[in-house]
Amino acid sequence: MQKNCDLVIIGGGFRTSTFLASSPELFKHHIVVIEKRNELGPGAFGEYNVTTSSSGASLLKEIVYKGPFEQLNQHPQVRMVAQCEKPVQAETLALALKEIGHVIYDTLGGASNVILHSSVRRIEMDSASSSVTILLDDNKRIRANHVLLATGRCERAHPELEAWRDKVWLSSKIIRSAARLALKEELVRIQACPIVIAGCSHSAMSALSLLLAATDELAVDCKGYKRPPITILQRSPARLMYDNVAEAGSGQVPGREQIFNRSRDVCPVTGIVFRDSGLRHGSKELYIKLFNGQVDNTRVVRVSKLEDASGLLDAAGLIVQSLGYHGAAPDIFMAGKLFRSADSDKRLNADPNGAAVVGGVNFENLSVLRAEPTPKEYRDHSVYGSGLYKRLALRLEQRITGARVNGDAGR
Ligand SMILES: Cc1cc2nc3c(=O)[nH]c(=O)nc-3n(C[C@H](O)[C@H](O)[C@H](O)COP(=O)(O)OP(=O)(O)OC[C@H]3O[C@@H](n4cnc5c(N)ncnc54)[C@H](O)[C@@H]3O)c2cc1C
Repeated sequence: MQKNCDLVIIGGGFRTSTFLASSPELFKHHIVVIEKRNELGPGAFGEYNVTTSSSGASLLKEIVYKGPFEQLNQHPQVRMVAQCEKPVQAETLALALKEIGHVIYDTLGGASNVILHSSVRRIEMDSASSSVTILLDDNKRIRANHVLLATGRCERAHPELEAWRDKVWLSSKIIRSAARLALKEELVRIQACPIVIAGCSHSAMSALSLLLAATDELAVDCKGYKRPPITILQRSPARLMYDNVAEAGSGQVPGREQIFNRSRDVCPVTGIVFRDSGLRHGSKELYIKLFNGQVDNTRVVRVSKLEDASGLLDAAGLIVQSLGYHGAAPDIFMAGKLFRSADSDKRLNADPNGAAVVGGVNFENLSVLRAEPTPKEYRDHSVYGSGLYKRLALRLEQRITGARVNGDAGR
């Protein structure tokens, strides 16, 4: 009988590549990575035409330049991002992640352990044998002692926009480089009909800046083109990030933004105000310009629910949904029964060591690597997620070694 592999990682994007690059010691185990795109490394960042919200340095801060990753220390693409204290273009980050992906691919032994162009349809947890079976879209099955879900996030059609569905674009579509032409065609099609952006987060500001750039280009290219009015629907007051309480104290403008609460909104470790939830860098600048009326024909409207703006939504030619992301995962079966379907609302949470906690159930042999956005109660505290990679690597080491002792040896 074929032996179980030690660990299957589903998804080979930003999280998987930076996690493996933070723990080169894991490569002594039999690891298989399954990725539906055609390469390891960039994941979603390979498709975005945006600037990241974090600095390049913080995105690559976990890499340990040892063992197979030593060579990356001098790699120009990786250095450029790892040493950049400002946000970077997703495209630039993707080039660095691609290099990390190449190292991982080679270190894992290439195509025999890195399965590209392949999507996992289902994860089957077998409580009796404590092993996990992965079912791929070509019906191939792989058995593992442990599975790590690093499948990223996706936007789902929001129920409050159901009535206008046929004119809604997800913000993740607007920010895709591949959608640039389609977006311009859509803007030409809707002519001067208004555009509504539902949401006012970093993703919304990224979508807005691409819409503004596209309409500017059309104004130059197409004679008589008239830029449509754009309305941003804001459901709660904007949070703006400040480096510290003193800066927030002197910089905050009532009416423009939520006034911070010292006990709730200040990171106890860094002192940063609205550290994770706040708009920062280019998004903060754009929002401030909007508030000051410095962006032509564009305004922010406060609503408590989207329905309150039904008149605006009815009149819109294009609606951009920017209302948050959900963790993405294939169907999860337990003891033969569907436990969580891919479209379930159950969040893919994890304990501080990365062990999956889904729908109130704690999983021993399933881990999750930051698939969901940061939970609300932690989002401005750097304590969330810090040290996770180290603790997860330790947990995987212990689980893999434990499974070996119990007789399920890897390669
Ligand atoms: C405008 C914008 C700016 C952002 N800036 C930042 C930032 O600065 N810092 C930050 O941390 N995050 C940022 N994000 C969020 C960012 O997209 C995610 O943090 C990052 O992509 C998550 O990495 P990941 O590995 O979880 O997901 P991904 O990089 O998307 O990787 C997941 C991979 O899993 C694969 N996959 C999914 N399902 C399956 C399956 N069933 N079978 C096989 N493979 C599968 C996918 O193909 C994908 O390659 C930003 C997002 C946006 C929209």
